[in-house]
Amino acid sequence: MLIKEFNIVKKNWREVDLKFALCYPSVYRVGMTCLAVHLLYELLNMRRNVLCERVFFEPYFNMRSVESNRVLSDFDVVGFSLQYEVDYVNFVRMLLSSNIPVYSRDRDDSHPIVIAGGPAVSSNPEPVAPLVDAIVIGELEPIIDDILNIFIDSEDRESCLDELMSVRGVYVPRNIYPVKRSWIKSLDDAHHAVAQIIPQVRSSSRFSPIFGRAFLLEVTRGCKWACKFCLEGFNYRPFRERSLHVIEEILDEGLRRTGVDKIVIIGSDASDHSELEDVCEYIVSSGLKISIPSMRAKVVDEKIIKLLVKGGQRTLTLAPETGSESLRHYIGKFLSNQDVIDAAKIAYSCGIRNIKLYFIVGLPNETEDDIKSIFDLARRVADVGFSFPRSVRLTVSIFIPKAHTPFQWYGLEDPSILRSRIKLLRRLCAGDRRIELRVMRLREAVIQAFLSRAGREAASLIVDAAKFGGSLSAWRRAEKIAKISIEREATSVKSLEDYLPWGHIEVA
Ligand code: SF4
Repeated sequence: MLIKEFNIVKKNWREVDLKFALCYPSVYRVGMTCLAVHLLYELLNMRRNVLCERVFFEPYFNMRSVESNRVLSDFDVVGFSLQYEVDYVNFVRMLLSSNIPVYSRDRDDSHPIVIAGGPAVSSNPEPVAPLVDAIVIGELEPIIDDILNIFIDSEDRESCLDELMSVRGVYVPRNIYPVKRSWIKSLDDAHHAVAQIIPQVRSSSRFSPIFGRAFLLEVTRGCKWACKFCLEGFNYRPFRERSLHVIEEILDEGLRRTGVDKIVIIGSDASDHSELEDVCEYIVSSGLKISIPSMRAKVVDEKIIKLLVKGGQRTLTLAPETGSESLRHYIGKFLSNQDVIDAAKIAYSCGIRNIKLYFIVGLPNETEDDIKSIFDLARRVADVGFSFPRSVRLTVSIFIPKAHTPFQWYGLEDPSILRSRIKLLRRLCAGDRRIELRVMRLREAVIQAFLSRAGREAASLIVDAAKFGGSLSAWRRAEKIAKISIEREATSVKSLEDYLPWGHIEVA
């Protein structure tokens, strides 16, 4: 292997009772930026009788395990971390690469058990239900030992799946039945990955994780807020935070085990950690670099920004979602444009010279004026002092209705309207060189919106799209075969009486 990794674990295959392939259906660089991969790798390998190796959707590794160059079918269990719906196709392509039957019904005792987890399948597992043997709904920590014991002790596939059905938070989709989400009450009781794997590559390498050689530090889980479009806000409740003293212990141990000098704060609502300032102080006063990927505008203050700047952060990221205050209020985000401007002013006065703003187009009730308001807000932020070319970066996604959110009944906006609104935004931004615009691809949004609310009928499309190579044109071919209009399904508005494929999943 040409990539040297620090903290890689290699075990003797003859000395363990369970061989687990931890699969991430995207490239190495993306997978190694996912804290769940580090956590599962460590939790599984901590068990003396269990071996865990990583497999990425990475041409370099030819879809073989990083640790021993083995194919998926060599393992007893293959576990997939499915963070996003767009990963479903790669998940199937990974099974195909190893000649594992893609449908659960076609597997027997000679095949590995296929299990999946992650935000996308936790909120609506049905599109992949026929393709997996079991799905973890919610958080794995409270149930991981029960699951591993069942894998080890079961005589055969049938008894294993029967046993798994009795574990809270595990869904065995050969039957449809109510499943309650698994979640950990106190984050202080949840193991944190400390021996994170650090690739010994240059920052310019395509194998360098997105944040570089860094220690990923999860300080919160869930979110205090309830934006009506947000999967995180509704599927990972309640908001939980790690205590400062636990964070300090994790950092001390983590740095000793990894030897890196940069900490990336992880947590969808991390900036609401009640002791965030102390956490940053601890990191920066230890001479380490720090990065917080996104902050809530209202909590931005001088003290925290000065700490971030001292810790090497050069960009502040905020998520106003829209430029219109009335629309923002409607989507459940309680933030004024002045809050965004004030945060930008503080950041600029403290030495931040780049600002990144997340917006969404196609939100329910959005008008063309709301699109103009995105540009207006971006311009007002630039006027604060961000005057260099591309110093205000807009990352614009398209509203995707997500299961278990108050907006789950809305459809994706009509693609022709989306196209014209994106065009309008592009035209407005093109006139201001301080502003850079990146917009999600429309066809990807259509496929994602279809998958996020689909039922089991989507499985055959996913399989066909995978067999045809996984590209957007592959989806078109799959769509024709299935005689389904993905766009019509994605844009359909559901009524309160409509059947929801994810109705048996209880995330509350
Ligand atoms: S969008 Fe952000 S603030 Fe709103 S619920 Fe989601 S994670 Fe929380």
